[in-house]
Parts: sequence; structure tokens; C-alpha cells
Amino acid sequence: MANRFPSEMDVAIIGGGPAGAATAIALQQQGDKRVAILEKSRQNHFRIGETVPPNIRSPLTQLGILKILESGKHLPSLGNRSAWGSSELGFQDFFFSLQGNGWHLNRTQFDASLAEAAAERGAILQRGMGVVGWDRLADGKWSLVRMDPDGSQFQLKTSFVVDATGRRSVFATKQGANQVRMDNLLGIAAVFEFEEGAAKDCYTLVEATELGWWYGAPLPNGRAIVTLMSDGQEWRQHQFSRWENWMANLAKTRYVRELVAGATQSSELLIQPAFSQYLDQMAGDGWLAVGDAACTFDPLSSAGIYKALRSGILAAEAIAGYFHSDAQALAKYESQTRRQFELYLEDRRQYYSLEKRWPDSEFWQRRRFNISLPPSKRLRFERSHHCASVLRRLKMYLPLRDLQMLCELCVGGKQASDVVAQYRARTESRVSAYRAIEALQYLLEQQIIR
Ligand SMILES: Cc1cc2nc3c(=O)[nH]c(=O)nc-3n(C[C@H](O)[C@H](O)[C@H](O)COP(=O)(O)OP(=O)(O)OC[C@H]3O[C@@H](n4cnc5c(N)ncnc54)[C@H](O)[C@@H]3O)c2cc1C
Repeated sequence: MANRFPSEMDVAIIGGGPAGAATAIALQQQGDKRVAILEKSRQNHFRIGETVPPNIRSPLTQLGILKILESGKHLPSLGNRSAWGSSELGFQDFFFSLQGNGWHLNRTQFDASLAEAAAERGAILQRGMGVVGWDRLADGKWSLVRMDPDGSQFQLKTSFVVDATGRRSVFATKQGANQVRMDNLLGIAAVFEFEEGAAKDCYTLVEATELGWWYGAPLPNGRAIVTLMSDGQEWRQHQFSRWENWMANLAKTRYVRELVAGATQSSELLIQPAFSQYLDQMAGDGWLAVGDAACTFDPLSSAGIYKALRSGILAAEAIAGYFHSDAQALAKYESQTRRQFELYLEDRRQYYSLEKRWPDSEFWQRRRFNISLPPSKRLRFERSHHCASVLRRLKMYLPLRDLQMLCELCVGGKQASDVVAQYRARTESRVSAYRAIEALQYLLEQQIIR
């Protein structure tokens, strides 16, 4: 099989998840490029992340693959129920949505059918083949090293590389892009099975608790998934990876425990990083990052798959522009993706701020995004080797170059409000004043500025 793989392509997509597959399908719609997807897994394993809202129809329709929702063993999702900001349950019923219901996907089948749809449209799909290395050739093309499960390696020459490797951004980070983290969220999940073969209802359930929030959702085949979303700090302190601790916390919920009452556990605890993050560089000459490789959303948004598909469509447009020598095509893609991420951060901030119970809980304090920095406070930064080396290790809130810029603006002492205004002027207001203040508070906490 591997020997029959062509040795040269126009576009090589590393990663065959929703973003990689959508990029391939949208590129095939253009009809003039040889496209390969290199996916390291066999796409036959269980994956967390299964609830999609009704608006998923729109990118699937644009890609011409809406039927994959009907042909799969997916469950309709009738809406959301949430105990957030109050112990009472609120409802959002998709009955009133113009686009109809959402879905609780059979995620394994959904990802596999997306990748297969790309192959049916002409992309070459290679599963079980990870990309383990790359080189830039003298003619400007890339040489990717792909590895078979038996360990044998092959070269693939390509004009353009798409990093669709998910939140690890395997290729982009090796091109010098840095990941900027916004929090330390983790998902700790277990799957339950119902004896009578059917979950109790078709709603997604979200319940805030003192140490984080829970979500529960039915899965196809008479199962349900229950996940505790909490920060790395709480996870370590309360040892949530121990079944008895996780269960003791589940028992404290009012609604989520009811969802799986009487069901039997059918998986080990599955631990997944779930923090929001973005790349400080999402594209470069001959490459771009797509989906979670470019930026990740909090699972609270249930928007990861939708965003991955949309991002694939935008990426294909940008790649077409690149091949037609549009010098701005990749920069435009990057600025659209950044803008989308900034809007998402604003929504996330507002949604978390609705939860005001547990004023002493550190999990919620971290998310209350309180502004404690008075605008008139005089900030000072003194250049030193020590500060420079601590700064280089900081990975949160803003890219390192922006954190350095904020520090430089504080040299000699300046009022916080002036630092924020000057930072925003220099960066053409790419980020909100709020984000700049958050980063200044972080630099104060880390004792880089005083
Ligand atoms: C706890 C949790 C719950 C979530 N719940 C939801 C939800 O309910 N709804 C929702 O819409 N989203 C949810 N998400 C988010 C959603 O799963 C992601 O946003 C989505 O999978 C992103 O798609 P992607 O294609 O960008 O990345 P991925 O789906 O991560 O795909 C990346 C692919 O790249 C492959 N790969 C990696 N490295 C290599 C390599 N070197 N060579 C070749 N292949 C490689 C991987 O095998 C993988 O198939 C959740 C996420 C978490 C963590």
C-alpha cells in the first residue's frame, strides 16, 4: 500500500480529524489540486467530544456531506439543560431552532466518515501513518517523512503543508509558532452503559459545582458519557484520576449523577487536556494550521467540531489564494482565525462570569476574570537577566513578544492605563483592553513588573 503512495502532492494534510478532512474536501471542491491526508491513527478508537449543535448543518452542507449525519448511528440532541449560576435547571430546547436538532455523535464513525468523504472526492487518505519529520527543499517545497506502523519510513514531497494535528500543533510549533494558553482545564471522563440499552433522554446536561463543572450526554448504543471539567491544580489536589475521588464528586452533583443512576461503568477514567489556547503564528510560507492546531475552544462551547469544519473551509480558500500568488491570502486567514478566537474569549468570559456561587473556590476565582489592577497604578519594569529568563518561560495569556512589549512599556514607570493604551496602539488593537490588563496582572503575579 505504502509503495503505491505517490511521491509528490500539491497539499499534504497532517492529521485526518474534522479540520484536516474538511480542508481536504474543500480543496477537492476546487478540483485542481493533488491532496493527501496522512493520519497517524486507524480512526477506529473511542474519542471524547461528541455533541454538536444544530448549526453543524451549515458547514456540512457547504462541504456537500450533510448526509453523513443521516447515514451514521448518531443520536439526535434535543437541547441543553444547565444548572449554571443557580441550582435550578435551565433549558435551551432545539425545538425552537430554525436548523432543527443537534446531534450526539458516534464520534469514531463521524471522524472516519468525514475522512472517507474526502477520499471519495479524490484525496488520498493514508491511515496508520504518522508524519515524523520534515525538511524544506532547495526548490521551496517540503519533504515530509511519514512512518508506517511497521516503522518503515517514506518521503513525500509537497508544495504546501496543512497542520491539522489537533491541539499539539505538531508541525506549526516546529516552524517556530508558540502555543499561548488561556487556562489549565482538563476533562476527566467515564462512559456508562445502560442495562435496558437506552440512555434516559437526549439532552446535554451541564452542572456547575464548587471544583469545576460536569457535563453528561447520551451516546449512541445505550451509553452515556460523564465528564468532570476542572483545572490541573484541582485535579492534582483532589486526585481526580482516582475512581473513588471522581465518583465521590459525582455523587455531590444534583442532576448529573441522576443521568447515570443505575448504569454501569464501561470505561476507565479518560483524562484529556481541554484548555483554551492559540498559536502566535497560524501560517507561514507554504504552511498553515487549521482547527485545534490553530486554536482550541473550551468544551463548554460545544463548538470544537463546528469550528474545525469552518476552519477547514477557510483554510482551503487561503490555500487557493496562495497557489494563485495572492500574497495576502495566508495573512487574511490568520487574521480571520484570530478574530474568531478573540470573540470566543469574550463569550467565554461572559459565560463563566454568570456563575457567582462559591466565592472562595479557586477554580471559579480563576474564571471570574476580576480586574484588580487600578488604572492609575504605576507599573515599573527593570531589565535584568533574571526577568528575561523568567519571561521566556511564561506561556499564558499573550504571546511572549507581547508580554515583552508590555514589560518594555513599563520601563521607567508608567500608569497602567497608559501602558494598555500604548500596547493597543502598537498592536493595532488586535486584542481587547481587557486581555492586556489580564496579561499585566499575570506579569505582576509573576513579579516581572512591580
Ligand atoms: C473533554 C473534551 C470534550 C469535548 N467535547 C466536544 C463536544 O461535545 N463538541 C465539540 O464540537 N467539540 C468537543 N471537543 C473539541 C473537539 O473534539 C475538537 O475541537 C475537534 O476534535 C478538533 O478537530 P481537529 O481536526 O482540529 O483535531 P483532532 O480531532 O484532534 O484531529 C487531529 C488528528 O491529527 C492526528 N495526528 C496528530 N499528530 C499526527 C501526526 N504527527 N501525523 C499524522 N496524524 C497526526 C490525530 O490522530 C488526529 O486524528 C471536546 C474536547 C475535549 C478535550
